[in-house]
Amino acid sequence: MKSKTALLFSALVCAVAARAASIAFVDVTVLPMDSERTLAHHTVVVDGDRIVQVGPNSDVKIPADAQRIDGRGKFLIPGLGEMHGHNPPLGSAQSYVETIYFLFVANGVTTVRGMLGWPGQLELRDKVKSGEILGPSLYLAGPSFTGTGANAVLSPTAAETRVRQQKAEGWDLLKVHPGLKREVYDAMAKTADEVGIRFAGHIPADVGLVHAMEKRQETVDHLDGYIEVLKADTAPVDRAKLAEIVKLTHDTGTAVVPTMPLWETIIGAADPQVIYAYPELAYLPTSVVNGWKASYERRLGNPNFNRTRAAQIATNRKVVLKALNDGGVTILFGTDAPQEFSVPGFSIHREMQANVAAGLTPYEVLRSATKNVGENLGPRAKDKFGLVATGHRADLVLLTADPLADIGNVAKRAGVMVRGRWLSEVDIQTRLAKIAAERK
Ligand SMILES: [Zn+2]
Repeated sequence: MKSKTALLFSALVCAVAARAASIAFVDVTVLPMDSERTLAHHTVVVDGDRIVQVGPNSDVKIPADAQRIDGRGKFLIPGLGEMHGHNPPLGSAQSYVETIYFLFVANGVTTVRGMLGWPGQLELRDKVKSGEILGPSLYLAGPSFTGTGANAVLSPTAAETRVRQQKAEGWDLLKVHPGLKREVYDAMAKTADEVGIRFAGHIPADVGLVHAMEKRQETVDHLDGYIEVLKADTAPVDRAKLAEIVKLTHDTGTAVVPTMPLWETIIGAADPQVIYAYPELAYLPTSVVNGWKASYERRLGNPNFNRTRAAQIATNRKVVLKALNDGGVTILFGTDAPQEFSVPGFSIHREMQANVAAGLTPYEVLRSATKNVGENLGPRAKDKFGLVATGHRADLVLLTADPLADIGNVAKRAGVMVRGRWLSEVDIQTRLAKIAAERK
């Protein structure tokens, strides 16, 4: 039996261990992301999982015991959000799940909206939150509302029951998949409004983009619903029709998650020589990568595949994204990782380049991955994140070059902080090398 002194001592040790010492980023250029501005020669102090001070070097009081990170010549941005991400499939080994989470964090992704639920995910969400597993904060859609397969929702009553069940279980939102009949969708939407949960994802063909927005679907993911409603698969986009649908999107408060490179793969517009050579494929099991290649080969080899049509859709998607952005629609950053050639975390750099290629500015792209994410998910989670600001969750990325000058600089990291836990770039590269070396 332990003596009273020993018990008291261990209680003290626990109290100290539970409270992480503060960390200060000293003399750094901050991109707070509340507006397009940079704050040179600033210091940011983090205590536990919160940002507690942001100010000019001379105004900030750094606690004596704080760990100091030299920010000279560097840029501090909020951690990034992946608004259409996935957990590995049901039944994946815990070590694989942890690898996927690490790949996100290693690239500065500190928040993931998981877009397909399965049993056990809510427990993973809680383990990440408590720090038991290192990973991005998770906000999870429940098992899908789909019109096909074994788990199809085929009647309004079934939809209502499933909405109530997912709300009671604690899912953060509902996932809409193709194939839902309109009456089933409407019952889902009505019950979701009643119980206070949002729904997001695909646009079922029987529902259509306009009806989904009128029912206040929270996000329209992948933009394919726009190509469909604009009939923009074989000809350039009709500008008048586009302006109309952009206005409706804006006026209904619908946000979009573009997932540009992913969709080029889905429609067969990506160059196989390019995507097969992505260096980041080295971090995923060869069976996964080979599966992606085989499915892409099947797509290109399908007798109905039309290369010209695929290229036209890819071109039109950029036009649609630019118009949505310029029309004041909220863009939420997402890449659909891990899915066909979207490797968790690494895919964000390709998505950012694609968004800039569509005509968004680096600031607009960064905003879609920071401020917009926090504004969408924060209130329902009763949390604050997405800005470098006092009171916000300490999710930060330290860069060695200015991302507003070149969005590619988001890949030039000095380290990542996730909920107050600091990973230097050396730590990150060490673990990445281990993942690549041990992959099967
Ligand atoms: Zn997806």
